[in-house]
Amino acid sequence: KAKTDSRSDVCFYSRQLKQQIEHTGSLERDLRKALPNREFQLYYQPQVCSDEGDVIGLEALIRWHHPVRGMVSPGEFIPLAEKTGLILGIGDWVLEEACRQAASWRGQGLNIRMAVNISALQFNHTLVDKVRTALDVNQLPPDSLELEITESALVNDLSETRDTLVELKALGVQIALDDFGTGYSSLSYLKTFPLDRLKIDQSFVRDLTTNTESADIALAIINMAHSLNLKVIAEGVETQEQQKFLQGQTCEELQGYLFSKPLPPDEIVSVLMARNSGQ
Ligand code: C2E
Ligand code: MG
Ligand code: MG
Ligand code: MG
Repeated sequence: KAKTDSRSDVCFYSRQLKQQIEHTGSLERDLRKALPNREFQLYYQPQVCSDEGDVIGLEALIRWHHPVRGMVSPGEFIPLAEKTGLILGIGDWVLEEACRQAASWRGQGLNIRMAVNISALQFNHTLVDKVRTALDVNQLPPDSLELEITESALVNDLSETRDTLVELKALGVQIALDDFGTGYSSLSYLKTFPLDRLKIDQSFVRDLTTNTESADIALAIINMAHSLNLKVIAEGVETQEQQKFLQGQTCEELQGYLFSKPLPPDEIVSVLMARNSGQ
């Protein structure tokens, strides 16, 4: 290859890199203002009982309404928020808002569990006081709040992690391990940490019915969870075939577009009313 070609490649890549950095830089500037400017909103996605199809929980999922870019997905800004530490303030807001909303729905007779995603950076002793306060202020039954953590939150400092988990369990909240199966940590902690639920990652659910390896992994996760007295929820359920498979394997709960995509609060209420005939 001629030298000039590789030179122009270098120029091309450095121009791309520059644009990338400028994009990220301005996104970071905007992200700093997003909380004071009230640009965040929580959407909610149902978690249904795999037998009756009743909604028993909602997962709060953050949305950023950027004044110029429109909706920015959490996949794009949560990693940036974690890198910059902004996730701490954002995470506090998510916890408070989800609990406030849960209490408001309870006031209307909608007694469902609320699941809140907690980033690894938030997962330390100060979280315990914040959770206690959020429960008190909103008079929520502790077991109606579930914290979704990922395996990465569990591997940082094992003794502090264990203390934090034990204190959270003492408050009475539930703990789910999110994106299970994609992490890299040892399985031995599963039996010693006080967890309530495993969430099978959507990558295994996606090709459950077309790829025997994914099906085998999903089955192994369900069986292991049950033998450790943990409940299982599958995320990313999009088809009836996936639903049938998971029901047959006694996976307790399901979540995915098959039931509902995440929706803003006013729209999710009608989904709840329609699915839960008893309420
Ligand atoms: P997650 O907690 O694993 O959430 C599940 C993601 O899968 C959500 O994406 C949801 O919209 C999407 N999803 C649900 N059902 C289906 C389905 O049937 N098919 C497909 N393809 N996708 C489905 P979302 O809302 O874009 O959030 C992405 C990730 O961002 C979340 O993954 C979570 O890790 C993070 N996140 C979202 N909200 C928060 C938050 O408030 N705090 C923190 N720390 N992280 C958050
Ligand atoms: Mg989650
Ligand atoms: Mg997940
Ligand atoms: Mg995920």
